[in-house]
Amino acid sequence: MFSIRLKQLTPYVPGEQPQDRRYIKLNTNENPYPPSPRMQTFLAAADMDLLRRYPDPRFTDLCSAIAKREGVRPDQVFAGNGSDEVLSFAFFAFFDGRNGPLLFPEHTYSFYPVYCDFYGIPFQRVPLKPDFTIDLKDYARIESSSGVIYPNPNAPTGILTPRPDIRGFLSSYATDRVVIIDEAYIEFGGESAVMLTAEFPNLLVVKTLSKTWALAGMRLGFAVGQPDLIQALYTVKDSFNSYPVNALTQKLGVLAMEDEVYYQETTQKIIRTRDSFARQLVRLGWKVMPSSANFLFAGKPGVSGKAVYDELKSRGILVRFFNVDGLTDFVRITIGTDRQMQRLTAELESMKP
Ligand code: PMP
Repeated sequence: MFSIRLKQLTPYVPGEQPQDRRYIKLNTNENPYPPSPRMQTFLAAADMDLLRRYPDPRFTDLCSAIAKREGVRPDQVFAGNGSDEVLSFAFFAFFDGRNGPLLFPEHTYSFYPVYCDFYGIPFQRVPLKPDFTIDLKDYARIESSSGVIYPNPNAPTGILTPRPDIRGFLSSYATDRVVIIDEAYIEFGGESAVMLTAEFPNLLVVKTLSKTWALAGMRLGFAVGQPDLIQALYTVKDSFNSYPVNALTQKLGVLAMEDEVYYQETTQKIIRTRDSFARQLVRLGWKVMPSSANFLFAGKPGVSGKAVYDELKSRGILVRFFNVDGLTDFVRITIGTDRQMQRLTAELESMKP
């Protein structure tokens, strides 16, 4: 009944979205603030013709709005049903193992190996440094790699690679192999590599509206790169589903891109909350990785990440634990509102040593 292909799949497991009780949910890096208020206004008066007709398969208005916000041309933008889909199309379009494995960090977004298995792409995990940073020199293996992908800041560490290091790496890497930088969390403290796409035609930058723009439930992500890379993504999309981004999402995406002032405010609030919560963790004796994202990767010496996760869950707070060698001493804590982080701090203070 089932294909051999299917039997070989090991799906990605997302963070819990429990429906049983109300938790303080700090496990999937959702934004604690609502999306731009302009969206509520738009939805209240939305023309139902939008839903009757098929959406624009070229995302014209959306790509223009994204291009304007990112400082590129609309033909340098592709959109998808969440950045997961954009990434998936990119894996199909750019990586096939011809020149060796695809390289990505040993500890990183765990969907990457899933896409590799899905498309039959060989891959190699490159170890992080002992301080959990990425050294891009370790990826400059032109002879034996067919591309590179990594998130900046990295997940689940939150650690940023500075833009000069990225430029240095791109200058030394083969221009005929694609490098994808997954900037899901870049607005929380890093400099985007989007401007480098003008200089490096093999660079694709992928972003999501799920975090900074508080639209995880809407499912919208995009890629920025030179037009031939973008065209390749359209070829994959049009071989799979002409309309992955629905009409409402295209409209709401434009509103999100245009409300920079609102999102600057919420993003700055999250950054301030993160930095003060990190100080609280240090005060309580935790080891905290330096984060440029909307989460902290942290652990309490002598206590396993699983024990912290279990204890917090029993107290109504969800964080994320990764049962992966090298990461089991830590949990990943999404930054919520100040109130939520104060409650978490109080729970941590009252936990037995
Ligand atoms: N990349 C990274 C590094 C992520 O952490 C996530 C969120 N799980 C995504 C991409 C996917 O985001 P989405 O599909 O919601 O756009």
